[in-house]
Amino acid sequence: MTTVCYNMTGPELDREAIAHAAQVIREGGLVAIPTETVYGLGANALNPEAVKRIYEAKGRPSDNPLILHIPGPEWLERYCERVPESAYRLAEEFWPGPLTMILPRKDIVPDRTTGGLDTVGIRCPNHPVTLALIEAADLPIAAPSANTSGRPSCTAADHVLEDMDGKIECILDGGPCSVGVESTIIDLTCEPPRLLRPGGLPLEELERVLGTVEVDAVVTRQMGEGERPRAPGMKYRHYAPHAPVTAVTGAPAASAQYILEHLDAQDGVICYDEFAPLFPNAEVQCIGSLQNKGEQARRVFDALRSFDHTQVTKILAQCPDSTGLGLAIGNRLKKAAGFHVVDVTGENRPNPGFRVIGITGGSGTGKTTALRVLGAMGVAVIDCDQVYHELLLSSSELRAELQAVFGNVFDGDRLNRKQLGEVVYHDPTALERLNTITHKYVISEVKAQVEDAKRAGMAGAAIDAILLLESGLGDLCDVTVGVTAPLEQRICRLMERDHITKSYARSRIDAQQPEQYYKENCTCLLENCGSPKAFAEASETLFQKIMEVKDHE
Ligand code: AMP
Ligand code: MG
Repeated sequence: MTTVCYNMTGPELDREAIAHAAQVIREGGLVAIPTETVYGLGANALNPEAVKRIYEAKGRPSDNPLILHIPGPEWLERYCERVPESAYRLAEEFWPGPLTMILPRKDIVPDRTTGGLDTVGIRCPNHPVTLALIEAADLPIAAPSANTSGRPSCTAADHVLEDMDGKIECILDGGPCSVGVESTIIDLTCEPPRLLRPGGLPLEELERVLGTVEVDAVVTRQMGEGERPRAPGMKYRHYAPHAPVTAVTGAPAASAQYILEHLDAQDGVICYDEFAPLFPNAEVQCIGSLQNKGEQARRVFDALRSFDHTQVTKILAQCPDSTGLGLAIGNRLKKAAGFHVVDVTGENRPNPGFRVIGITGGSGTGKTTALRVLGAMGVAVIDCDQVYHELLLSSSELRAELQAVFGNVFDGDRLNRKQLGEVVYHDPTALERLNTITHKYVISEVKAQVEDAKRAGMAGAAIDAILLLESGLGDLCDVTVGVTAPLEQRICRLMERDHITKSYARSRIDAQQPEQYYKENCTCLLENCGSPKAFAEASETLFQKIMEVKDHE
């Protein structure tokens, strides 16, 4: 069979490709579908023959149930009995999104789809391509993850092709998955509701809506011999690359140290970006910065999968703590390890030398160089711009608050910056309201990340923000450093870096605070007025002094 791959990453929906894929679904064929979590392997959920082909293509045991994908809560009653009020509340808050609900099924859903269970898992995915496909086929699509059974899930169309080429009719390439781990599965057929699989929607979010949620034992440990899982699929080996994996939990500085001590030549390492320099001779896969669990979730499967293209003999992986998305990321790593887990420290050690340094300054002054120097000194770098972008993706509360004030400035769950920009750029009151909302969320997230870095045993945390002082983030810092540079130098740097004209660079700089502002309001100034090398050295000297002061206290 030839597998047709449609590129669906353009701004316009390719209606012809959707029509073809919908026809494949209606005729009982298989289509790999993009979703925000991972790629799915889809078929008509109501056709047992079509569903059988999913199991064959994946090599998946037939008692492992599939998830039904529907376009919204309006379809719940078609396939589920006795839908509780809580299901609608959850759908209202989190659909379309990475949440699967387990509900009693109606007879119209075949045994094949549910692995013989009298319940069905159901969710509304948040991807325009797949939603269009479901609508066009006018059928619920049953889909497990599109990987060969047991292998890491696919977060890009290339991975699907690796596993499914020649076995399925069609792949819809919707780009890389924005969440990167599978949906969270909540069983609503019991009281209290029970978390069967941690995933892209954090447990804390479910608890906010449902109150008490029980966490099934399979989330944190391996099923024992003869133990009966709530769902058959829970017992199978999962997500594993060819080489054996050890998941190392505990404070990140300690887990990195453990890995360093147990690493042989030919081994692979999965670690946070900050610790990669510790392993110059190993095959290293970084999964993102220490604080950025969104990025870790997006990259964990890619990291696991990539080792299958190498000769590594074993893989040692740093495992996050279990708050937020960490529960899902850690669960995937531990399952990939067959629950071979080493816990290096139950407790995080006190970290008295820890120092919080705020870095601010206008565009083109050289903040990035200064931050790189801090990173090399073992300081966790918190980029507030990135924190804000992550929050826009991960915080439904922030999105709701923005929506309430500025109207619908989102395309799906993506902020339409242009649209919001048009509102706030010409209206100072609107801009101030926007900042009041975003600063509140960014500050509380940055606070949490600083605490994480401290507990992780990092030397310190650097908060990188243009509006460090205006936003109130400066209050979190022991020291604030304003980076400055001569005007001419900044203009040249901006023109080169952002490919803009001299007058545009000049107008951008003029819109920012003058040097005097940093002189008056920061603890100290870091002047970038010589060669890049001289600036890096000056940065290092200043930061060493800042770190030392605390040591002697
Ligand atoms: P996958 O996303 O590929 O891991 O496959 C779907 C997973 O959803 C299965 O492995 C099950 O863990 C879960 N699932 C689907 N339907 C049910 C159900 N009725 N009860 C419990 N779990 C389910
Ligand atoms: Mg799977």
